Amino acid sequence: MIRLLLLMAVFSSAVPAFADPEYEVVRDWPALPEGKSLGLCAGVGIDSHDNVLVFHRNGRAWSNPFPTEPIAGPTVSLIDGRTGKLLASWGAGEFIMPHGLTVDHEDNVWLTDVGRQQVFKYSHDGRLLLTLGERGKPGADKEHFNYPTDVTVLSDGSFYVSDGYRNTRVVKFNPAGQYEFEWGTKGSGPGQFNLPHGIAIDGGGRVVVCDRSNARLQVFDPRGGFIAEWKGPEIGRPYGVSVDAHGHVFAIDGGDQLKGKLDRSKAVELDAAGAVVNTFGSFGAGPGQFQLGHDIAVAHDGSVYVAEGKGQRVQKFIRRSSGDREGGGAASPSPR
Ligand SMILES: [Zn+2]
Repeated sequence: MIRLLLLMAVFSSAVPAFADPEYEVVRDWPALPEGKSLGLCAGVGIDSHDNVLVFHRNGRAWSNPFPTEPIAGPTVSLIDGRTGKLLASWGAGEFIMPHGLTVDHEDNVWLTDVGRQQVFKYSHDGRLLLTLGERGKPGADKEHFNYPTDVTVLSDGSFYVSDGYRNTRVVKFNPAGQYEFEWGTKGSGPGQFNLPHGIAIDGGGRVVVCDRSNARLQVFDPRGGFIAEWKGPEIGRPYGVSVDAHGHVFAIDGGDQLKGKLDRSKAVELDAAGAVVNTFGSFGAGPGQFQLGHDIAVAHDGSVYVAEGKGQRVQKFIRRSSGDREGGGAASPSPR
């Protein structure tokens, strides 16, 4: 009980805010057609042209059990990273409960569906290339998942799956989708997990996992050997993670949802050693704020995109030009 109170005290105390965040929201992005709503935005990724792919639920709500019929409308949207225009939509009639989205170095799109208990590789324009797991059948062996959350792909085409809401492991597969190895058991020790919810690799092959319910990021070598854990009030409860070309790690804190109530949500940037160098955004529905930030992606041009659960949107952030910091200006995030 005392530990719980201490934990609550840590998380409810004022989050150390960077008074002058280095990122500002782009207010007119995206520029979707009038009346177009994506629904809950679960996953976000960036292709080689810095366009943005979003995996969204198109009106479907989380339920227990999940419905058995797929979402009728499109669930994957391709949005121009610069103009915010909707370029393409696909993924209609396929998915039960969209979750993770990852774009690999060949612009293939990897999706996880926690309702179908499967992991998918699609071409950029929506052709199904590979399916892992058995539809609707949970499991913890080499051919099954239990609410798989996310994927990260190496340059050789092999990949890791974070699995998931009910399993507590990371599984490595070869490029053909054959099981190689896995690590992780349930717990809070080094290399253990409690809801591995997002996964990314850096340029050196280190694997960064959002260990969501343990409120930490864990870093592993390519074979799953534990390297470090990064945690604290600035990091919060990481839901999604992305690594830029300089090895900086971007994570989205989705909040604690104590007693089911939505609370704190913010983005955090760490250097390759795990030191927090920026936080930006706060809980709320205003520009630059988040309600249940669920995934984050950093583009080659340095733009950062955050997908929101309850907020049902994707927002774009850009780094302020250094001469612009003092003035604030119309585009600075304003809490409200
Ligand atoms: Zn989730």
